[in-house]
Amino acid sequence: MTATEEKFSALRKAISKLEALLSPCKLCPRHCLAKRSEGERGVCELDGRLKVFCCNLHFGEEPPLSGTGLKEGVPAKGSGTVFFSGCNLRCVYCQNFAFSHLGNGRYMTEEELAGEMLKLQKRGAKNINFVTPTPQILPALKALLLAYEKGLRLPLLYNCGGYEDLEVLKALEGVVDIYLPDAKYQDSSLAAKYSAAPDYPEKNITALREMWRQTQNFAYDEDGYMTKGMIVRHLVLPGAVENSLSVLDKLKEEFADDTGKAPFGLSLMCQYFPTFKAKSYPELKDRLTFDEYLKALEKLDEMDFELEFVQQHDDCAEDF
Ligand code: SF4
Repeated sequence: MTATEEKFSALRKAISKLEALLSPCKLCPRHCLAKRSEGERGVCELDGRLKVFCCNLHFGEEPPLSGTGLKEGVPAKGSGTVFFSGCNLRCVYCQNFAFSHLGNGRYMTEEELAGEMLKLQKRGAKNINFVTPTPQILPALKALLLAYEKGLRLPLLYNCGGYEDLEVLKALEGVVDIYLPDAKYQDSSLAAKYSAAPDYPEKNITALREMWRQTQNFAYDEDGYMTKGMIVRHLVLPGAVENSLSVLDKLKEEFADDTGKAPFGLSLMCQYFPTFKAKSYPELKDRLTFDEYLKALEKLDEMDFELEFVQQHDDCAEDF
């Protein structure tokens, strides 16, 4: 079988497995059993219809995904991003709350979404980037299949909150090329308080293990853009540095080899800003301080991820 035939076959198998999980819904670890095909909405506030906020070229992901690749002199090409409406997490500080929580977006047919993906390919996108796809993964994959049938040939990036169901991830083997999950919490009381998901730590680690099993070694195209791999993201929250240190420790404990090397990418982010419901939590009312970010950076320094990405904090003049 050629790589394209393998992709078609994996996509068809995934769609058939996921059909059984939509209604009553078990597509995320909440297993809230909403009868979505009958119009019932789950905790994610979605019924069975495909709802998308926007599709566009995006240049703000990590460089090998949407920027300049990993080779000198390559112009930024962008990631072909599909921002899905709704989310299975309930983060009080959600930076995408307008479409992840307030329902902004429009209902689309699978044919329409396939057309949008083909347009993104035509505009030069280096991948198709599904942002928060978990609750809508079934119609999203049906659209992807239609797009592949019409000539889409880009890697699929699964950009998610990291609160994922193992059976769903298993179904995605051979379909997803790059995983870009969050690792938000190792403190389950914080996960409960901020995201209504006390079981996040265990579900997250199980999900990361499966994503890692599927992707293993990185692969790149001729310009240095990633075509296969996993980059784990962690946003440091104000007042919660201990949680960040625990997340990094846990990643090391679970994934590092005997030499201490963890064989995937880690993106440590400081871009938190108070928004959505964060103002109801005194500790979340301000931005992250540089000192807080520095503590997480120092921990990262003790570790050895295959790729590491950090952000520039506003209060630091030095480039990292
Ligand atoms: S994806 Fe939505 S409907 Fe399905 S189990 Fe999760 S929260 Fe419930």
